[in-house]
Amino acid sequence: MTRWPVPTLADLPGRGLPVRLRDTATGELVIAAEGDRGRMYVCGITPYDATHLGHAATYVGFDLLHRAWIDSGVEVTYVQNVTDVDDPLLERAAATGVDWHSLAVEQTQLFADDMAALAVIPPHHYLGVIDTLPLVVDAVQRLIASGHAYTVPGNGSEPDGDVYFAVHSDPHFGEVAHLDEAAMARIFAERGGDPGRPGKKHPLDPLLWRVARPEEPEWDGDRLGRGRPGWHIECTTIALEHLGMTFDVQGGGSDLIFPHHEMGASHAHALTGSHPFARVYAHSGMVGFQGHKMSKSRGNLVLVSRLRAAGEEPAAIRLALLDHHYRSDWEWTDADLTTARARLERWRRAVHQRSGADAAPVLAGVRARLAEDLDAPGALALIDGWAQATLTGASESSSSESPSEAASDVASANAPDLVRRTVDALLGVRL
Ligand code: ZN
Repeated sequence: MTRWPVPTLADLPGRGLPVRLRDTATGELVIAAEGDRGRMYVCGITPYDATHLGHAATYVGFDLLHRAWIDSGVEVTYVQNVTDVDDPLLERAAATGVDWHSLAVEQTQLFADDMAALAVIPPHHYLGVIDTLPLVVDAVQRLIASGHAYTVPGNGSEPDGDVYFAVHSDPHFGEVAHLDEAAMARIFAERGGDPGRPGKKHPLDPLLWRVARPEEPEWDGDRLGRGRPGWHIECTTIALEHLGMTFDVQGGGSDLIFPHHEMGASHAHALTGSHPFARVYAHSGMVGFQGHKMSKSRGNLVLVSRLRAAGEEPAAIRLALLDHHYRSDWEWTDADLTTARARLERWRRAVHQRSGADAAPVLAGVRARLAEDLDAPGALALIDGWAQATLTGASESSSSESPSEAASDVASANAPDLVRRTVDALLGVRL
């Protein structure tokens, strides 16, 4: 996959603090990177209806972690996939009469353009399904050999040979989402699972390899036969290949906690014989619109590309997203953009003053807010406070200065530039 351009980040004096994230699996605040390396996997999009604001909130949220890690001297490896072969994509292509591959290519490009516009730092490894097929085929064959996976016989409507993962072969299954059986059964069915497939050992067992069907894309699966991979195993194999077992942060929207991240973790436990898959599971909240979670199936999407096409400045869209804590569920309204535009204008006016209120505490404060579970709204409030003090001070400033004020004058003259660089490097907003 072609990555989008890497944004330049302004230099900052000193170092940021170690970032703690709320771990979904334990509920605890956990230091996100141990030592001087940070390894992060954030699940990518299925490329259709890209990029709605729910997606954007997720990737901007984890971009804050990426930036805070860089600022604290952590060497980051960031990995993301694109689920460019999957049932929803194929169904959309068939329903609209377009070629699935063309749809995937077009929407993947749109996503990249949106991410670049929103100043999201791209992943270091960015992979589509076809990029990783040999890895997946090898992993599924190993899971069969070790008894963690099995083939399901065909019947009147389904061909012979689909491969499923036996969830209860992993003693740690359930430790990411902590759901009871009834909740797992309900959510599995809602989110693409097939609990009623005849021949499965357990209704929750997820698909690893779908053998070829007419009218569906298919690839060589070695001893598995021709077909295509299941979704969870793709992410697991990519993460194991590029980050290794027990990497730092598995991220994504909260609708991925179950079954996607639960299943992906179990696949990894079974493949490696060790545990856990990720040290921290971090999840962004859902963005609603007009009373419902923004979703492709409901069609209540606000697309970043449409806002951009209507002339909205991407920095204002990013600021609107940052005004909500990444883990919170919230509802998008027009007021979000109105507030963000006004904030952007105020901040710009403040950083263009010839001098400003003391900026060192602002940088330290923003670093501290981000280190505490990526508290972007708290960081925004600090910049707001500085902008207000600076603009108020500017309107009250007198021309008479005593010589003893010379040293603080130098600091105040540098203040607007330091705040501008803080907002650029840590929040990803160019003023
Ligand atoms: Zn994933």
